[in-house]
Amino acid sequence: MYDPKSLKAEEFIDHEEILASLAYADEHKDDLPLIDEILEKAKLRKGLSHRDASVLLACETPEKVQEIYALAEQIKKDFYGNRIVMFAPLYLSNYCVNGCTYCPYHAINKHIPRKKLTQEEIRAEVIALQDQGHKRLALEAGEDPIHNPIEYILESIQTIYSIKHKNGAIRRVNVNIAATTVENYRKLHDAGIGTYILFQETYHKESYEQLHPWGPKHDYAYHTEAMDRAMEGGIDDVGLGVLFGLDKYRYEFAGILMHAEHLEAVHGVGPHTISVPRICPADDIDPSAFSNAISDDTFAKIVACIRIAVPYTGMIVSTRESQRCRERVLHLGISQISGGSRTSVGGYTEEERPEDTVQFDISDRRSLDEVVCWLMEMGYVPSFCTACYREGRTGDRFMSLCKSGQIQNCCLPNALMTLKEYLQDYASDKTRTLGDTMIQSQLQDIPNEKVRKIVEERLVKIAGGERDFRF
Ligand code: SF4
Ligand code: SF4
Repeated sequence: MYDPKSLKAEEFIDHEEILASLAYADEHKDDLPLIDEILEKAKLRKGLSHRDASVLLACETPEKVQEIYALAEQIKKDFYGNRIVMFAPLYLSNYCVNGCTYCPYHAINKHIPRKKLTQEEIRAEVIALQDQGHKRLALEAGEDPIHNPIEYILESIQTIYSIKHKNGAIRRVNVNIAATTVENYRKLHDAGIGTYILFQETYHKESYEQLHPWGPKHDYAYHTEAMDRAMEGGIDDVGLGVLFGLDKYRYEFAGILMHAEHLEAVHGVGPHTISVPRICPADDIDPSAFSNAISDDTFAKIVACIRIAVPYTGMIVSTRESQRCRERVLHLGISQISGGSRTSVGGYTEEERPEDTVQFDISDRRSLDEVVCWLMEMGYVPSFCTACYREGRTGDRFMSLCKSGQIQNCCLPNALMTLKEYLQDYASDKTRTLGDTMIQSQLQDIPNEKVRKIVEERLVKIAGGERDFRF
């Protein structure tokens, strides 16, 4: 029985409720008065239920689809302005005991060399990432209690935060590791992680069990209830995601919104981020074997509908997607992207991009500097801001600032100051020139005169070598 407040996976992600929502969406996808009513509701910027949002996703009437895109773009502008937060993944280990059929790290893949970074190797990787200009990382590791126990992850986090190289520092470490216990989540919280990220992969239980035929990840309920345990362990900010292409996208879309509604109903705070990866080629993995793979158009529509349904939730797209595709979805709702990524264990210290231990093939292979420059050429402000979590603005505190719009008073000033740091320390001449011009013009958009003055003073100090100012 569907119950968003239940702590049982099969009740808050109720299969029958998803099917009923999809049937309702099919029945009403051409019902223009209803679609107009849903769009009016969405304009209030308070989000939409999974059922209403599913109607928008199913709608194929061209002018309504254009209205959906326009509204998504407007909501994106209202909440995130033209800022895009930058991050990079850091792969610690590709040892894994699971059997996920879509991931080359699955335990019976014998082609792939197995590797786990030592603390010294992590140090070298982090310095390489700092030298690119990164401040925010997402740690990735396979599930393996022998090779990658929680102690290894905790020690690695400590190592990463301790490295101060030139003007570099990693200021926020998000963690994407397997579902674990409340006790381990508490340890991660105490280690000072930012967001705990765990992709559901698919919300369809039967498919989930087939795609994860063995290993601890086979347990659908344990995996789906992980975010509740993370929150019980004190982690305020959690990041959801599905791997589009594993099951029917409309099912996943309803499922992920139900998961968000569940977190809001139980913990009073929805997901901090939603990631939208799509299945893509990798060693031992052929995406054409997955018949639910989605087109670029469908992908764009999913991004737009998520943006409308959960306006306060950050949305992440990785370098799995091509430059062209990323460009398209940035307009529609994406607020965070990775840049200069290597998806292999130890990849950042290799001169040549290594291919033998990658988790997935990268479509966008540009350097961070090229990505930063490209964003600015399109009018976006690349932001290396990590202020909220460091100022204790997490969980419901963060969400209430978001909902009242007050967070906007911090985001643009912080974006400009962290961009200035990047330009001073890491940018090419071309990027620096473009960035300095952008900062000057964006300063005028800071509405509060007092804040603008402070930012101007701090920008001078950053040019003089001082670092790490924040609001
Ligand atoms: S998706 Fe994660 S759990 Fe599954 S095989 Fe890959 S690394 Fe292991
Ligand atoms: S101020 Fe907070 S919400 Fe805004 S960009 Fe920085 S960390 Fe994100």
